[in-house]
Amino acid sequence: MTAVFEPHCLVCEKAVDFGELICDNCRGNLHSPSLSEGDFKVYHYGKYEYPLSNLIKEFKYHSHPKIAQIFGNMLAKFFIDLKFPELNYTVSYVPSNFSSIHEKGFVPAHLIAHHFSDILGFPIINLFSSKTHKRQAQLDYRKRNENVKNKIKLIHVPPKNIIIIDDVYTTGASMNEVGNLLINKCDVLIGITVAKAYRYSFNSSL
Ligand SMILES: [Zn+2]
Repeated sequence: MTAVFEPHCLVCEKAVDFGELICDNCRGNLHSPSLSEGDFKVYHYGKYEYPLSNLIKEFKYHSHPKIAQIFGNMLAKFFIDLKFPELNYTVSYVPSNFSSIHEKGFVPAHLIAHHFSDILGFPIINLFSSKTHKRQAQLDYRKRNENVKNKIKLIHVPPKNIIIIDDVYTTGASMNEVGNLLINKCDVLIGITVAKAYRYSFNSSL
């Protein structure tokens, strides 16, 4: 008796080849690039909607480490396609707050940044410590800003050319806080995220 194991696409459940996590069709629908321009530029590989959002949820809430590899690959290819000047970049990532580290046992952005830096041959450094106490996902826009404000601290002298990786860009609060700490201390600062989520529909008091 042999147990038959047929791998299925994590997004649409269609049968895939052994060793594959997602089907070609879903893979082809993940890329939808956009750019957020604030104090520095943050590039987004795709939108936080089907099928990319499913893959991100699978990664974050079921700690699926192979998906980090897929995301690292995607972002590395994205970075190359964007044709940035050839510099000695150092990779870092937006810190997770304490409670999410305790709950998940891993830092999603760190795992993605790790694969990204590996593929491109850039060193990776943990530049920040974080003292936010509430998970960002539970908060609205104003509270997200308050939650991260002055809570992320720089723990190393920043390198000259920095790429900051994050998984999902929602309000930009974490990315901007990180940017504020670096912007006058480095020459080049680039943000790259797997996805951009669009503003909530609930009423903000802003
Ligand atoms: Zn699929």
